[in-house]
Amino acid sequence: MSKPASPNSHRLINARLAIAASRVSEYQSLENGFVDIANGVISAVGDMSNLPEISDENTIQVIDCKGRLTTPGLIDCHTHLVYGGERQREFEQRLTGLSYEAIARSGGGIKSTVAATRKTSVDVLAQTAAERLDCLLAEGVTTVEIKSGYGLDTQTELKMLRAARKIEKMRAIDVKTSFLGAHALPDEYAGRSDDYIDHVCSHMLPAVAAEGLADAVDGFCETIAFSCDQMERVFKAAALQGLPVKLHAEQLSNLGGAALAARYGAMSVDHIEYLDQKGVDAMATAGTVATLLPGAFYYLNESQKPPVQALRDAGVPIAVATDHNPGSSPLLSILATMNMSCVLFGLTPQEALLGVTANAAKALGLEDRGVIAVGNTADLVIWQAKAAVDLVYSLGKNPCHTVLKDGEIVLTKGEN
Ligand SMILES: [Zn+2]
Repeated sequence: MSKPASPNSHRLINARLAIAASRVSEYQSLENGFVDIANGVISAVGDMSNLPEISDENTIQVIDCKGRLTTPGLIDCHTHLVYGGERQREFEQRLTGLSYEAIARSGGGIKSTVAATRKTSVDVLAQTAAERLDCLLAEGVTTVEIKSGYGLDTQTELKMLRAARKIEKMRAIDVKTSFLGAHALPDEYAGRSDDYIDHVCSHMLPAVAAEGLADAVDGFCETIAFSCDQMERVFKAAALQGLPVKLHAEQLSNLGGAALAARYGAMSVDHIEYLDQKGVDAMATAGTVATLLPGAFYYLNESQKPPVQALRDAGVPIAVATDHNPGSSPLLSILATMNMSCVLFGLTPQEALLGVTANAAKALGLEDRGVIAVGNTADLVIWQAKAAVDLVYSLGKNPCHTVLKDGEIVLTKGEN
């Protein structure tokens, strides 16, 4: 479904194009532009004054954007969309004053999702994740990253990743998967976290790699999860399989996980509220993307903010993602996430848009999307909007008008 069978061509005219090169802080706007699409790929981009003649009008469908903002398809580069069960009760518990750490230590939190996920079939995992994904698709998301990490045993981790791959056949979406075996310590290994990391490195990760189920390897480096030494062992095991790495780090404390991940060439380090200057510098040197997750910050009612200005000053690309998960961020709106990145973390609307397009693509190691440019995949969104600020200004408004995935219209609100 995500790859069109017919090589139909489209031409977008009178579009207000948000053109961006990677690693810039603002979008350049082409006020009255066109985009030609052939075989699912952008074949030409330019100003309407240079519009080429159409050689065969029967084969090209023209879409008049009528001055609407047109951006790359949005990319949610950090989600945990595949899981069993729900965690509404935990949400209520937190509202009575219990902390995320206290709930995790008392056997709630991630462990309750692990128990439910182990009992859920691959088909049900894929179906429920696809239904959650529909909220993101309605807002112009065309690429999503999905992590494992609620199995914490080989069989269930494989099942989660198979479910994530399956979603690509169920919806018009590209899915990039991350193996997150080092997410939490399962009960079977209580008090033996080093043994569990051995198991992740010598059994789980090779099994995942053998089936080609992971595009990257992720981990959770935190006092309630795994240490830098333990994560380093996982990164070495990932390198043996030729898989790139990324890390949840400096979310609740500063353990130096970001600098470690950068040393291993991490594509992104995510959360980073407690990131220090040393970590910022290491990420800048390695070209690692800083992925901000305002949903978890919001739901956990945190106060420590990521060092946005230091990241800007060092030239670290900033991505923004929902971190959708059943515990700390049950957020299913990329537009709300963009708004929160501006209101809570101080990003500009242009930075928020770059965070879910060009920089999100970089966080996933994808060079063929996130920017409207010749040769890139024709994932495009036409908005009932004029500028980036219109996408983030209101909470609860969805100005998504038309979505093209691989050059095919997969969602449209019609001709108005
Ligand atoms: Zn996460």
